[in-house]
Amino acid sequence: MQLSRQLQRRAETLLPGGVDSPVRAFRAVGGGPPFVVRAEGAYLWDADGNRYLDYFGSWGPMILGHAAPQVVKAVQEAAARGVSFGASTPTEADLAEMVRQAFPSIEMLRFVSSGTEATMSAIRLARAFTHRKHFIKFEGCYHGHSDALLVKAGSGIATLGIPGSAGVPEETIQHTIALPYNDIAAVEQAFSRYKDQIACVIVEPVVGNAGCIPPNPGYLKALRAITAREGALLIFDEVMTGFRLALGGAQDIYGIQPDMTCLGKILGGGLPCGAFGGRADIMRMLAPLGPVYQAGTLSGNPLAMAAGIATVGTLIERRDTIYPQLEQVAAAVAEGVAGLARKAGVAVTTNRVGSMFTWFFTADPVIDYDSASRSNTSQFAAFHRAMTESGVWLPPSQFEAAFLGTAHGEEEIRATLAAAKEAMDRVAALETH
Ligand SMILES: *Cc1c(COP(=O)(O)O)cnc(C)c1O
Repeated sequence: MQLSRQLQRRAETLLPGGVDSPVRAFRAVGGGPPFVVRAEGAYLWDADGNRYLDYFGSWGPMILGHAAPQVVKAVQEAAARGVSFGASTPTEADLAEMVRQAFPSIEMLRFVSSGTEATMSAIRLARAFTHRKHFIKFEGCYHGHSDALLVKAGSGIATLGIPGSAGVPEETIQHTIALPYNDIAAVEQAFSRYKDQIACVIVEPVVGNAGCIPPNPGYLKALRAITAREGALLIFDEVMTGFRLALGGAQDIYGIQPDMTCLGKILGGGLPCGAFGGRADIMRMLAPLGPVYQAGTLSGNPLAMAAGIATVGTLIERRDTIYPQLEQVAAAVAEGVAGLARKAGVAVTTNRVGSMFTWFFTADPVIDYDSASRSNTSQFAAFHRAMTESGVWLPPSQFEAAFLGTAHGEEEIRATLAAAKEAMDRVAALETH
């Protein structure tokens, strides 16, 4: 990894930590990040010519694999027509129709350029709609890096051990109520304590940003019932789960109709893109129709729309084969590695929903942020390093979900299990020394 190290040293003189997003720096697992120069299908290549089997998929978007021909073609053709106009284009409605088809709860939506913008704007809208200030979020759920949402926000923050973040004034988060995930009693208590003051509950319906944590049976239904009863809005942050767990995201598989939904990642097929949408009576409060301001120079960007249409279009067209295939391959990988851990005598709890999964290095069930954070992160780091050496790229933190896509097949399952067998043996040896 000589060239990658050189590139890292150069980047570090220009970019804090050499990165534009903190977890990319590999601080939690050590070593140092490979610099990627190319990707195709299920594989990435670094500057030194090493090939990696990819299990992070650009943190979610690459469900069709890297450089999927129909996506590349769509982006190339769009680029040739001009990359940005700052005016309406037909493609925005094209992608919006696809989103509405996949998510019946979304009657109207607005495109933005990131998941952060989507959640931040959804909260503003919920506050305006309900004339209330407070909102509930859950520990370990990440909803982007806007100030009011950077409270007990999992993933990057858990990985780096930053409590919230410096630079966020207490006044900014005084209306943010952070509660444990999967704990309905805590939600009931908050609603009675802050009677008629809570605008909304925002939740990752399946948590991905503390590692993969599924909702307990009935949890999401209870959130739906309580918010409806209390006149608060329910916002599903499906930036990660949307188009991934099913075409219609977590709300489809758990049968819940949220008032608003945030999307990103897969929506833009790897280009910067997000969206928030939901009930038309709420969305009509947005400027220019209503009093809630929200804007973006590059919102609905033609390249992002083209990549999104190509990606979501493929998912719609081939949904009947794609999602069962993802389920089958992800089960083989996740349960295969879990079996190897058992054989090696390493305590691992495997959480998986569809093609999103985490091997937590702990013997106990992981149902919330607290139980996730009791994982043995030095075992995870050793496992991660061993897998990287064998050419398998896992997300570089215990608290990030792994993903796979349609380019992962039998060959990739075999390669992963071969690498994991050696890696688990190494983790086991670590313990006895
Ligand atoms: C990634 C993510 C975000 C933030 O999206 P960005 O595009 O990185 O700003 C928000 N919510 C969830 C659930 C995410 O996984």
